[in-house]
Amino acid sequence: MEHINFLAFAMPAFFLFVYLEFKLAKKRNRPKLFNYESSVSNISIGIAERLLNLFVSATFYGLYYFIYDHYRLFTIQSSIWVWLALILATDFVWYWYHRLGHEVNFFWAAHIVHHHSEEFNFTAAARITTFQAIIRTGFWCILPFIGFHPTMVIVMLVVHGAYSFFTHTQIVGRIKWLEYVFVTPSVHGVHHASDEKYLDKNYGDMFTFWDRMFGTFQEEEEQPKYGLTHPLKSFSFLWQHFHYYFEIYELWKRSRGFKAKWSAVFGSPANMDQDIRPMLERRFLQDRTQKRCRLKFRNYLYVQLGVCVIGLTFLTYYFGQLDTAAKVFATAFILITLINCGALLEQRKWIYYLEYLRLFFVTTYMLYLADSLGFFLFPVGLMILSEQLFSLSTRYQKVVLQLESVK
Ligand SMILES: [Zn+2]
Ligand SMILES: [Zn+2]
Repeated sequence: MEHINFLAFAMPAFFLFVYLEFKLAKKRNRPKLFNYESSVSNISIGIAERLLNLFVSATFYGLYYFIYDHYRLFTIQSSIWVWLALILATDFVWYWYHRLGHEVNFFWAAHIVHHHSEEFNFTAAARITTFQAIIRTGFWCILPFIGFHPTMVIVMLVVHGAYSFFTHTQIVGRIKWLEYVFVTPSVHGVHHASDEKYLDKNYGDMFTFWDRMFGTFQEEEEQPKYGLTHPLKSFSFLWQHFHYYFEIYELWKRSRGFKAKWSAVFGSPANMDQDIRPMLERRFLQDRTQKRCRLKFRNYLYVQLGVCVIGLTFLTYYFGQLDTAAKVFATAFILITLINCGALLEQRKWIYYLEYLRLFFVTTYMLYLADSLGFFLFPVGLMILSEQLFSLSTRYQKVVLQLESVK
């Protein structure tokens, strides 16, 4: 029987659920559940994580087997009770991974990306980065170390991951009786809120009893205000991924003495200097146009996201059969396109050069396929010539970067 790569179907399934949620939000007259820029940025980050996951997931799984084969404490045979114990153990490890993700700067740098979204819908669930996946894998290694078989662990992680997707929605109201045991969308919504009483609460992913046990449970009372206490005022793909690492570095530079430097990296995010981010934003994001404007020509952005999604679906499905050049080309193409989408939302000055870089990747890969890589400078010359002859950059500014004011 032909091997079917089921992972490829996660993408269409994701969009189906987002579409259903969007339709329901409209039907219930709650259009504010979705925000255009935020959704694009959430989906872009999700695509990048799924894309890079193709390259690292085999290493993650290999690590579980390596630890199980060489260092396991016990040999646990599979049974219904063991599966139940594994569900509990997985969520317990998650609780501490997640809690430390909020309490330690270095871990928060990866996890903060999940909390940028000021919308709370299925697209927010996609806001996971590869850095976060790497740190999480470090925590998951505890399970094969205890003696749970890696196959069981991997199955459980898929179930656990799928469960948390469905807790990112406002379409389902409070289901109070379920909250005694399970994390519901309302419980997780509180975790995503920036209201004082909701801060640092509800770390569990499937069960609420860890939070109850360790005093971090909070049920929904007032309507939560979603997002960070200090919102990131940028949709830049790169800035969203890296800003907090820069903040840590800046704090580390400012700190004097070992203890202060240590806590810059491993201390609490609550002690981060709040003047660092605005200072870095002035340095790195200075070419943004005014915030009250948004892109008029959105179809260009939709087409690019669509191409990324289709590209990623095919890449996932055929990943095992492709050669390295094809994988590198597809990955670079999708990543540049995602950076482009983020830059389009902010009308950054350098997008135009990114367009050239992408074109350069496409032509070079074509020449590689045609076994004529020696001619790679030919299209570059053609690009420079057409730029000179038709002043493409001005046309690009006029057509693609048209702005309209936001009401
Ligand atoms: Zn969190
Ligand atoms: Zn979440």
